[in-house]
Amino acid sequence: MTLTDTGASNLVAVEPGAIREDTPPGSVIQYSDYELDTSSPFAGGAAWIEGEYVPASEARISIFDTGFGHSDLTYTVAHVWHGNIFRLGDHLDRLLDGARKLRLDPGYTKAELADITKRCVSMSQLRESYVNLTITRGYGKRKGEKDLTKLTHQVYIYAIPYLWAFPPDEQIFGTTAIVPRHVRRAGRNTVDPTIKNYQWGDLTAASFEAKDRGARTAILMDADNCVAEGPGFNVVVVKDGKLASPSRNALPGITRKTVFEIADDMGIEATLRDVTSRELYDADEVMAVTTAGGVTPIVSLDGEPVGDGTPGRVTTAIRDRFWTLMDEPSPLIEQIEY
Ligand SMILES: *Cc1c(COP(=O)(O)O)cnc(C)c1O
Repeated sequence: MTLTDTGASNLVAVEPGAIREDTPPGSVIQYSDYELDTSSPFAGGAAWIEGEYVPASEARISIFDTGFGHSDLTYTVAHVWHGNIFRLGDHLDRLLDGARKLRLDPGYTKAELADITKRCVSMSQLRESYVNLTITRGYGKRKGEKDLTKLTHQVYIYAIPYLWAFPPDEQIFGTTAIVPRHVRRAGRNTVDPTIKNYQWGDLTAASFEAKDRGARTAILMDADNCVAEGPGFNVVVVKDGKLASPSRNALPGITRKTVFEIADDMGIEATLRDVTSRELYDADEVMAVTTAGGVTPIVSLDGEPVGDGTPGRVTTAIRDRFWTLMDEPSPLIEQIEY
């Protein structure tokens, strides 16, 4: 088993051209073969900041943005694979739903946000890209303005080379996790888990604890000792051929939605419900699912093997199906015009 040492960071960066050897040969996860036309300053990364397209290396926002000062924002991360953007409509729906709950007005329609997003990807030329859309409460005319009614909300969008929560080798061979002893996931009455957010204090503490205990990542429990989620991923357990994933204290992940749809197509029962810590430890298979990490088998939990300690049959079947969806013409994908 190959496990990459990624420090306590949650994301592994990928540069176009320098990446293909990371992908296990013959596996279902393969990068496109292409060269960037570097005569464009946008090659390799483009952003939309305050109404203008800028090269990613020049993307800057105000230090007075309350998105920075108070984490007063919502965001989403979509991905482009083989030149196709995956479930952009679902990402925008969740983003706009979060904005509405936070009383944020992006000032753009869903269609306009989709166009700007696809334009960023197109300008970046990236065929595999990590695409971030963030809506913040912004800043006011007066420096450091805190009056919530006097702030101009902001939209930031960028497309950059792929960032992996779980790089391809971990998705193929599996990865390791702990259940943190020192931190629990914020409760849904504290931080609304249905609004994707950067209030990562609990998730970051959990990542450091994982690092200290020699594991790659962490699965956090909630205050009721039920499974919540991990740093940027949903958790799905498999027991006796059936899938379950937490209904509370977890983001309604778009990857998880996809995993449930794949399970349904395969005739596998999948339920959103409370998943106790006992069920996590007793699971036959555990998977971490996220846009930036596909479907990753967790093969070790707190140093003990999950199942037989190798990627399980259900997880690997769903993982392989997930990646084939990125190429198959369907309403889930949209081709970027480069
Ligand atoms: C982004 C994220 C996920 C995964 O959601 P996807 O829509 O599948 O990318 C899960 N949990 C948290 C806390 C996240 O931030």
